[in-house]
Amino acid sequence: MQFEFSRDDRDVVARAKELTEKHLYPYEEELDANDALPASKEDAIRAGVIAYRLNAVNHAVEVGGQGYSMAQQAIVSEETGKATGALWGRVWVPPLCLRAGTLQQIETYLKPACEGKLSTAFNITEPEAGSDAGGVRSKAVFDGNQYVINGEKCFASGAEHADVVLLHVNVDGDPKKPTIFLVDPKSEGFIIRRLPRFMQRSGHGHPEVDLKNLKVPATAILGGVGQGFELTKDWFVEARVAIAARSMGMAVRALELANAHASKRKQFGRPIRDFQAVEFMIAEMATDIMAGKSMLYRVAAEIDAGLDRRVAHGKVSAIKLFCSEAAWRVVDKALQIFGGRGAMCENPVERLYRDVRLERIWEGTSEIQKVIIGGQIRKRGLGLYTG
Ligand SMILES: Cc1cc2nc3c(=O)[nH]c(=O)nc-3n(C[C@H](O)[C@H](O)[C@H](O)COP(=O)(O)OP(=O)(O)OC[C@H]3O[C@@H](n4cnc5c(N)ncnc54)[C@H](O)[C@@H]3O)c2cc1C
Repeated sequence: MQFEFSRDDRDVVARAKELTEKHLYPYEEELDANDALPASKEDAIRAGVIAYRLNAVNHAVEVGGQGYSMAQQAIVSEETGKATGALWGRVWVPPLCLRAGTLQQIETYLKPACEGKLSTAFNITEPEAGSDAGGVRSKAVFDGNQYVINGEKCFASGAEHADVVLLHVNVDGDPKKPTIFLVDPKSEGFIIRRLPRFMQRSGHGHPEVDLKNLKVPATAILGGVGQGFELTKDWFVEARVAIAARSMGMAVRALELANAHASKRKQFGRPIRDFQAVEFMIAEMATDIMAGKSMLYRVAAEIDAGLDRRVAHGKVSAIKLFCSEAAWRVVDKALQIFGGRGAMCENPVERLYRDVRLERIWEGTSEIQKVIIGGQIRKRGLGLYTG
């Protein structure tokens, strides 16, 4: 058995690490304090992403992406995921399904998105359709000339700043016709009703949106009527690998900080790491990370070797579940090792503590991952996970 990074992979690690340390870490505290960064700093980050060749790592070189393997994409997410305030989101990864666009859509949306000249948001969730994404009620009806969309959305991350929103609605209100429309959020009829505040201060909101007689041409459909879920299947695989990877990045950073603190901080006349209670926490954190990274890179390598998409879907649920839960345990222990200093906002561990919590919720909660894993075991047998 052979398992090691190639020279190309190590080059990706080095670039992603340097970008994170030089172009993301310096903005963390300002972003957290103001929930925004000035445009000049956003521009500087964007220039850094291009300079380090880390834009659109998931798309083909022909459309302006990097064409990275799944393992390399995981490497980038692991490194950039160490930055707090979702600064990893500044290292843009345009939705994979845009590659299913027409030539016109690829020119108008995908290529500029890969270059960082066009920002995207992707919205499925509705008040009555969260874990149960099949419960979407927003509908698009063709009036002879164009589609007219009505409904309600929530958690539309970044839609308030986006140039285009990939909006998942049902044509004719028929759940058998889930469809993605490419929508300009500045259009009349796309109404940002409310921007609730969230525990993570990333400079991007997660708005609630009313869709009121939003008019879009038939050419705004991505991939065809009824293709909504089919198009997002690949994206779920990619997004869940990314979550597992950045969860591991957060965990590694938290452990490194806690480990250093435990050696330096003295109580009762000796470094706190000399107390077995503390050292055991460090040992558990290291073990969680070793387990999480092992399964993450194994599954990423299997995907790169051509793993069947349906099998990949089942496996990435396990890595999303384990890595996000493990990272939560690690960051929680790191904060404990810091004691009161772990609760100070200037400590990255405090910010990681708020950030890592979300990884167990979005792109399918931990419970939904277990539903998927359970279903896969019933359908394909235990070997998918135990073999
Ligand atoms: C910060 C943030 C950003 C987001 N960004 C986006 C975005 O950009 N686009 C988008 O479309 N969505 C986005 N979401 C939505 C996200 O995907 C949903 O929050 C998530 O899928 C859970 O849905 P819900 O919040 O409605 O919870 P619910 O579905 O109401 O679930 C509540 C609880 O019930 C449990 N539960 C539900 N069903 C089952 C079941 N069958 N078995 C066991 N337990 C179950 C859940 O695990 C959870 O613990 C975002 C969410 C957050 C918090």
